[in-house]
Amino acid sequence: MRERYNPEGADVGISATTLCNPIQQTILKQRHPDKLKVFDVSDRFWSFLGAIAHQVLSEHGRDDALVETRFFAEAHGKVVSGQTDHYCGEIITDYKCTKAYKVMKGDFTDWERQTNLYAWLAETNGWPVTGLRVFAFIRDWSQRNLYQKGYPPCPIVELPLPLWPKEQQHRFVSDRVKALLLAEQDHDHELPECTQREMWQDARDWAVVKEGGKRAVKCYDNEEESRTHNFKSGEVLIQRLTSRKRCLNHCAAAPVCSQHARLLLEEGGEPWQQKLVEPVTEEQV
Ligand code: SF4
Repeated sequence: MRERYNPEGADVGISATTLCNPIQQTILKQRHPDKLKVFDVSDRFWSFLGAIAHQVLSEHGRDDALVETRFFAEAHGKVVSGQTDHYCGEIITDYKCTKAYKVMKGDFTDWERQTNLYAWLAETNGWPVTGLRVFAFIRDWSQRNLYQKGYPPCPIVELPLPLWPKEQQHRFVSDRVKALLLAEQDHDHELPECTQREMWQDARDWAVVKEGGKRAVKCYDNEEESRTHNFKSGEVLIQRLTSRKRCLNHCAAAPVCSQHARLLLEEGGEPWQQKLVEPVTEEQV
């Protein structure tokens, strides 16, 4: 039940995690501490295992490394801080527990932002950074799936991440702090809405369906392929989205979030959303 990164409730200012989280979520959590979703400890099982991995690894960093070190700096008059897992030889290493799917998808934007924020903090404190990487521990790795294209070759993989120029790192921190401070003035319903990415919602597929129907006549992995479909009269193309995983399972602010309430109504209880891409008219057929 205790935050691993802030066990004693120490003042860490605005943490790197907070800066990378959706602004709406951060503000709602600050404003409504007694109305937040209460998670069962079993919902936190994987983060518990992640905490164990971090604990073990923190005891085995290189002798000349800075391990689990929190750096502090200032932006727009606010204290910003972040705790790196391992800093050594000008390389910042972060440990992540994840799923094979994420590694196969190859979208590490969230990790890239977080580690560049760490790099900005380390540099500001006089520790140069020339490289960033994540060691990903793949909790659902299975030898049986090795035949799949892009499947990680073993359950622990090293992923180098792009190091941004210093100005870009500084701009990122400055923009996020500014946006957070501005949002503090907003009423709940005026807060900046979470993006699809922030809600952990992806495109599931592109499906050709009969207009008004739900059953797919044919499914495609991407829009380009779907356009090659030989559309018959009355068939339309829709993009199907995955569920909003963060809102539904991981966001403590969900009970007080008006965006979530509105989207639930719009989705009408469907496990996934549909977005009409473009109706195909008789003429086009
Ligand atoms: S419930 Fe969803 S939309 Fe609302 S703050 Fe959380 S992540 Fe954002």
